[in-house]
Amino acid sequence: MSGVGGGVWLVGAGPGDPELLTLKAVRVLGLADVVLHDDLVAPAILAHVRRGARIIAVGKRGGCASTPQSFIEQLLIREARAGRVVVRLKGGDPFVFGRGGEEVAVLRTAGIAVHVVSGVTSGIAAPAAAGIAVTQRGFAPGVAFVTGHVRDGGEGPDWRALAASGLTLVIYMGVAHCGAIARQLQDAGLAATTAAAIIENGTRPDQRVVRTTLGKMARAIAATGIGSPAIMVIGDVARAADAAIRVTRSA
Ligand code: SAH
Repeated sequence: MSGVGGGVWLVGAGPGDPELLTLKAVRVLGLADVVLHDDLVAPAILAHVRRGARIIAVGKRGGCASTPQSFIEQLLIREARAGRVVVRLKGGDPFVFGRGGEEVAVLRTAGIAVHVVSGVTSGIAAPAAAGIAVTQRGFAPGVAFVTGHVRDGGEGPDWRALAASGLTLVIYMGVAHCGAIARQLQDAGLAATTAAAIIENGTRPDQRVVRTTLGKMARAIAATGIGSPAIMVIGDVARAADAAIRVTRSA
């Protein structure tokens, strides 16, 4: 691509380390007229935004007050209709638990051109930064990315099927519900001794890693004060976690 067309660009900001931004993300940020970004996007990433462009924070953090989705969508539509190059900058990859799919649908219905720039998702990069390969021959034939946060009245993941799958489970937005998740996975047949790792602020300078087991996971999270944003990895590959904090006994 040579120039950058008008419309809305959904851009992945990666997991936090500014060097995990793609070249395309850097280029699009440098050409944007308006950038709407989430809370977790580091200043070093916003430094790529062209001087004079408008930067608007539309915070979204589980549990805290956040900008309503409909307001964000209306703002994207208004700015795009004014002929501006609009960037919607999202943590990780825009199509992995980022509501990117919903935004694309709304914008297309409104007749606005949408482009997507993939990013490095935290579900792969945070484990990697802790020494965990989410798939590994002999340990896990594949990986399932699931959300631990379910909207009121919404359907959660099928923990029973996941427990039986033999896949590595990478759980986004799960720390607040870790007790219920661990219980359901054990009820579904996963052993309490199954390896688990939790990576908080993966790829950032303040990254923390906890290595534990499924049976001890909830207590380990409570004891260490690990909180959002964090990725939980459950399965044999989590044994490789290069953790400063190992919680293997009851906390
Ligand atoms: N689109 C994003 C995910 C958005 S959902 C992506 O592809 O990464 C937000 C969740 O992502 C958080 O609750 C947390 O589970 C995870 N997350 C985002 N950045 C993270 C990081 N640096 N370390 C650990 N988890 C992270």
